[in-house]
Amino acid sequence: MKYLIANWKMNSLDISDWILKFENNCGEISSRETLQIVICPNFLQIPFFIEKSAFSKYLLTGSQDVSEKDPGPFTGQVSSKHLSNFSEIDYCIVGHSEQRMAGDTNAIVFQKIQKLINEKISPIVCVGESLETKESGDRENFLFKQLESFSNFENLKSNSIIIAYEPIWAIGTGISAEISSIRESIDFIKATLETKNIQSEILYGGSVNAANSKEILSEKNISGLLVGNASLDGEEFAKIAQNF
Ligand code: PEP
Repeated sequence: MKYLIANWKMNSLDISDWILKFENNCGEISSRETLQIVICPNFLQIPFFIEKSAFSKYLLTGSQDVSEKDPGPFTGQVSSKHLSNFSEIDYCIVGHSEQRMAGDTNAIVFQKIQKLINEKISPIVCVGESLETKESGDRENFLFKQLESFSNFENLKSNSIIIAYEPIWAIGTGISAEISSIRESIDFIKATLETKNIQSEILYGGSVNAANSKEILSEKNISGLLVGNASLDGEEFAKIAQNF
């Protein structure tokens, strides 16, 4: 299976207009059986997106995050049980670097993964190093610790999990990581998870656009893309979808 994930972050889009632009420009792209195109709007826009995309034969809905807690006195949070009230939500991003910067530790990310799996929602787990870590030569060690924090979870062997390798220094900068660097990290992630008997699809994210997506997708161990900025434009995102 291949995946194309849109992370709209805290942007308010004109959803009807975005869907129109996407549908008018995507032409004939791979069907849902081989390519899952998942749009993650902000929490408030999720119900509206579900309603407006209901006719689309391509678009699916995901969430940008979830609470690690069960429903209760946690102001401002949304639980996995709330997400599961929407049967259309099959995916949820966790561990995005912007959430990690806001306080999500590896332990919290693991709790979020567990909550999602309990609700049969597939976690899209973001991992990736800072520029400082990369330049200090500590990248593999850093990635290993992030992967280690959840990969001993027995339930992962029987549930689907998606990993998004997103080097922090490539997110939102307009400068994607070099192919050789992406390959090294993805191969490392794959090999590490295989030692735990986890078969995971691995995506790349970080300044992906219509122009660079084809080359990135040609890498054999890359199963898809997580796209921020370039997903805000329905036409550009449709062009990326055509490259699968
Ligand atoms: C992201 O935030 O997950 C991301 C990949 O953003 P961008 O595509 O803008 O770098």
